[in-house]
Amino acid sequence: MNKPSTPSYDVIIIGGSYAGLSAALVLGRSLWTVLVLDSGQPANRQTPHSHSFLTRDGETPAELTRIARQQALAYPTVSLQDATVTTVQPSDSSFLVRTNEGEVFTAKRLILATGLTDLLPDLPGFAECWGISVLHCPFCHGYEVKDQVVGVLGNGDEGFGLAKLIHHWNPGLTLFTNGPSTLTPEQNAKLHQHAIPIIETPLVALQHRNGQLDALKLADQSVKPLQALYARPAMQQSNDLALQLGCELDEMGFIKVNEFGKTSVEGVFAAGDNQTMMRQVLIAATNGLRAAVMITRELMEEKF
Ligand SMILES: Cc1cc2nc3c(=O)[nH]c(=O)nc-3n(C[C@H](O)[C@H](O)[C@H](O)COP(=O)(O)OP(=O)(O)OC[C@H]3O[C@@H](n4cnc5c(N)ncnc54)[C@H](O)[C@@H]3O)c2cc1C
Repeated sequence: MNKPSTPSYDVIIIGGSYAGLSAALVLGRSLWTVLVLDSGQPANRQTPHSHSFLTRDGETPAELTRIARQQALAYPTVSLQDATVTTVQPSDSSFLVRTNEGEVFTAKRLILATGLTDLLPDLPGFAECWGISVLHCPFCHGYEVKDQVVGVLGNGDEGFGLAKLIHHWNPGLTLFTNGPSTLTPEQNAKLHQHAIPIIETPLVALQHRNGQLDALKLADQSVKPLQALYARPAMQQSNDLALQLGCELDEMGFIKVNEFGKTSVEGVFAAGDNQTMMRQVLIAATNGLRAAVMITRELMEEKF
């Protein structure tokens, strides 16, 4: 009996969110066969509304994904499968991609569009409020909370930088250093000059109703009423696929790409949050488009 051959594609896109589906759309329109494999965990999944995307300002993340899937899959050479990719490896002039279900596919080019994972602190209420009233980015949500009682969680240079940024939207903010301050005397003086209170008492919990923050509970039993809290939790790559392929990461852990979205490994591209500090839906979609255009140029050169 003949062994069924491994399904092969021009391009496999790992991650079917904004970066991945944007690439799929452009590759489909460029007549390439494309498989998108997606585990369905976009970074903004808990956010009620996504902002700053011209024509889509205020849309829900789920609706953005629904439209993106519908438009990319309208092209007959594009297909999508809900699956988690566990291993990737080069094989001759292509790549072997294996899912958690044991399915294997091959492709001439790969796009890693796998986003990042936020490492939320183990603080009661933090995860429930994440993206709803615990916010990482004023460009995404700053306008909506500009008239609210807001805090910034952070210490040292990072806390100072975030407080300085948020002060533009919320001049009445409070800085919570969550332990002894590591601010420099100059930073302290600047915060004092702008009447920004600094609270060093550690946080023990976020009091909230369905993710909507009411107050911070501090270790000294005091309670600080608050409607929104800015925080910048650590992030990491969502998986080790880039490392399996030997793609170089930069010192901050982003996948290194050139101006065309190519990684350090021939045939492998990266797009979206996994390769840039500029964490925005529109930028992720732009990165996907860029990778798709460059792959088209490469495959076309090989064919012509
Ligand atoms: C709380 C929060 C709120 C935000 N709000 C806004 C906003 O209002 N406006 C804005 O412009 N931006 C916002 N952002 C940023 C925005 O969500 C990201 O920039 C955007 O989601 C990045 O798109 P991406 O396609 O690179 O990655 P993601 O959207 O994170 O998607 C990555 C996809 O890859 C999949 N994946 C990962 N590993 C695998 C694997 N091994 N196999 C298969 N699939 C895999 C994941 O399941 C996921 O579906 C927000 C981010 C956060 C965290």
